[in-house]
Amino acid sequence: MKPLFIVISAPSGAGKTTLCDMLLQSYPEICYSVSCTTREPRLHEEDGIDYYFHPKESFLRMIRENRFLEYAKVHGNYYGTLKEPVYDVLKHRQSMLLDIDVAGAQQVRDYISELPDDDPLKQGFIDIFILPPSLEELRARLEGRSTDSSAIIEKRLKNAEEEMQRASEYRYQLINDDLTLAFNKICDIINYNAETL
Ligand code: 5GP
Repeated sequence: MKPLFIVISAPSGAGKTTLCDMLLQSYPEICYSVSCTTREPRLHEEDGIDYYFHPKESFLRMIRENRFLEYAKVHGNYYGTLKEPVYDVLKHRQSMLLDIDVAGAQQVRDYISELPDDDPLKQGFIDIFILPPSLEELRARLEGRSTDSSAIIEKRLKNAEEEMQRASEYRYQLINDDLTLAFNKICDIINYNAETL
């Protein structure tokens, strides 16, 4: 498999985490990019596995040191991808999967557009946007998982609407109305690009 640099975005509740987990299980050669965040860990989240949890001050210092490939403020907290681990993985001819928001994905595209054609990030880049079947279904899913308060759910829904308007900026868009079908479509995208890029 050719090393891919895969960016996946979706509004929260669209099933992105489940699809990413399925992808990582099926493709052991794809590494998950563990983001840094200033958000508080949720129950069962582990530092270094789900995220690198940082105090705001240390996150801001890393911004100043230019260590991020991209970063964004999402739902009031900072999230970012460090450059170094991404390059390390691609250098070893493995693929990297980033689960980031639309603002971060745009920064990645901007960053890549400045790179020489033979840069592994540019050569392996593909971006995918996952859509929920509808906003009503998204609301039902967010309310059903009961990890967030209703104020946070409203904030996430508003954010989702804005994010979904930017789906066309991605090379691939797919609707997650059936998990197995959506997963198969992602596998088709990965397999096609791993052979042709
Ligand atoms: P959550 O707090 O639910 O884990 O994530 C909230 C949002 O932050 C998700 O849409 C996720 O894709 C986004 N996110 C996670 N890591 C990063 C990152 O490193 N950069 C950016 N730009 N967004 C991220």
